[in-house]
Amino acid sequence: MTLETPQAIRGTQDIFGAEAEAFQHVVATFERIRRLYRFRRAEMPVFEKTAVFSRSLGETTDVVAKEMYSFDDRGGESLTLRPEFTAGLARAWITDGWQQHAPLRIATHGPLFRYERPQKGRYRQFHQLDAEIIGAAEPQADVELLAMADHLLRDLGIADGVTLQLNTLGDASSREAWRNALIDYFEGHRALLSEDSQDRLQRNPLRILDSKDPRDKPFTADAPGIDEYLSGEAQDFFGAVTAGLDAAGVAWMRAPSLVRGLDYYRHTAFEFVTDRLGAQGTVLGGGRYDGLIETLGGAHTPAVGWAAGIERLAMLVGEVAEGRSDATVVVEDERALALGHRALAALRNAGLAADLIASGSPRKRFDKAVKSNTRAILALGWGAEGATTRVRNVDGDAPRIEAVIAGLSAA
Ligand code: ATP
Ligand code: MG
Repeated sequence: MTLETPQAIRGTQDIFGAEAEAFQHVVATFERIRRLYRFRRAEMPVFEKTAVFSRSLGETTDVVAKEMYSFDDRGGESLTLRPEFTAGLARAWITDGWQQHAPLRIATHGPLFRYERPQKGRYRQFHQLDAEIIGAAEPQADVELLAMADHLLRDLGIADGVTLQLNTLGDASSREAWRNALIDYFEGHRALLSEDSQDRLQRNPLRILDSKDPRDKPFTADAPGIDEYLSGEAQDFFGAVTAGLDAAGVAWMRAPSLVRGLDYYRHTAFEFVTDRLGAQGTVLGGGRYDGLIETLGGAHTPAVGWAAGIERLAMLVGEVAEGRSDATVVVEDERALALGHRALAALRNAGLAADLIASGSPRKRFDKAVKSNTRAILALGWGAEGATTRVRNVDGDAPRIEAVIAGLSAA
C-alpha cells in the first residue's frame, strides 16, 4: 500500500536556497533601515478576533468581503488569520496603552493570509514589512515614512524602475465632496461598469478608481480628480508633504486617481510601483489613516504607515547567493576525528564559517572538499608522530586558519 502525501496548501510557498537568501536579505535590510530611522520593533499575534479586521477595514473592502481566513475556535469565538498588520497594531495601541509612547514609530514583519487567486507575486500566505507612525498629525511623519521606504528600495538596489506614486485624499470634507462628485459621474455610466463597481457605486465610489476590471478602466481615466475639491487646509498639508520629499531628495510622481479604498484614509496615499513584475506591480503601499483607531473604539488618533510585500521585493532583488564556507575541515584518518571536532569548534568560535567532511571513502574526502564551495581546506591526517595538519588555500585567509590551528596545538 502506498500512502498519498498531502500536498502543500494552494497559494503557500516553501521558500528555499537562493530564494530564501533573497527573502532574508530583504528582511535584514529592513531591520537595518528600521534602526536608522529609529522605529521600535513589535512582534504581533498572527490571529485576532474577527471584529479587529471587519470593523477597521469595513465590510465593503475586498479583504473583508472575500479574502479573510476566518474560523470559529474550539470556544466558539470567531477568529481571523491577520490579512494585514495595521488593524492589529491599532488594537494593541488601545488595549496595551501604547498612547503613552505617542508619537509611536513602530515596525514589524511576518506572514499574512488572504484567500486570493494565487499567481506570480500573489499568494494566500505572503509576508510583509510594515512601518507605522501612530499619534502623529504632522506632514513630517508622512515625509519620514516615505523617505524610509525610498531608502529601503535604494539599499536593496531596486530603486531604479520603481516609482513613488503619490496622491492626497484630502481631509474629511474634501473627501466627502469628491466622493459625491464621483457618485454623480459614475451614475452616468452605471450600466457599463463591472458588477463589483455597480455594487460599490453608492457605498464606496473611490474603490472604483482602484478597479482592475477592463470594463471600468475607460471611465476611471476621465473621473473627476480630487484637486478641485481640496480644502485650503488639505492643500497645505499636501504641499508640506511634497516640499518635505523634495527637500529629502525623494522622487515622486503625482497620481491623481490613486486611492486607498478604506473610509478612514485621509490626506497622503501612495504606492511604489514597478512594471517589472507584470500585473503584481505594487511593491509597497500606504497612507495616512487618521480615523482607524476610532473605528476600534479608541480616541481620535492621527497615524500614517506603509506595508511592502517581501516576496515582491525579493523577486526584484533576484537570487542572492548562499554563503561560502571560510574553511572545510577534512578528516582523512579516523584517528584525527577528535582533532577535527576541536578544529571545527575553534574555527567557528573565531567567526569563520566552517564545514566538516568526515564521511565516505577517506581517499575521496579531500577531492570532495576541493569541489565544495570553500575558501580554504584544512586536511587532518595521521603520521608517525600523531595528527598532521595541512592547509590548502583556495581564495581564503590561510594565515588566519593556521593561527587558529596553532592556538589549538598550543592549548
Ligand atoms: P494588490 O492591489 O496587489 O492586491 P493590495 O492593495 O491588496 O495589493 P496592500 O493591502 O496595500 O495590497 O498590501 C501592501 C503590499 O503587500 C502590496 O503592495 C504587495 O506588495 C503585498 N501584497 C498584498 N497582497 C499580497 C498577496 N496576496 N501576495 C503577495 N503580496 C501581497
Ligand atoms: Mg489585494
